[in-house]
Amino acid sequence: MRVKRINTGLGQRTTKYVIAICEIMGENFMPGQKIQELAEKIRGFIDTRSWSKYHKPKNIAIAISVEAAELLELFQWRASNDEFDKEDYEKIRMETADVAIYAICMANACNFDLGDAIDEKIGQNVRKYPAEDSKDLFDR
Ligand SMILES: [Mg+2]
Repeated sequence: MRVKRINTGLGQRTTKYVIAICEIMGENFMPGQKIQELAEKIRGFIDTRSWSKYHKPKNIAIAISVEAAELLELFQWRASNDEFDKEDYEKIRMETADVAIYAICMANACNFDLGDAIDEKIGQNVRKYPAEDSKDLFDR
């Protein structure tokens, strides 16, 4: 597989993540492409059901929180070292997808590109938490 070299402008660590994602998604994949495709698919799903009138930022923010709570519920009363079975991971996978779908809905409702926002936020986090200062931060 050919590895695409992309200058993210965000430092070596972030560039490695982008390259790893490109390796997983295939050589024609460009960061943000998949999210844009999903955003269009979700927009089509909403529009064909005339649900746009309900998809206001406040309602979507509530929906994100509800779906995040459904994800959290899967961990309720479990110890950190509890084993998860295949069915548990499938539930985690689907609730995580619900959260991501509503995050994309928020981007659609507010007219921004979620891929760009994620990219920008990763850049902010890279600058806020330089690797040399942040390694094992929570073990101190
Ligand atoms: Mg759900």
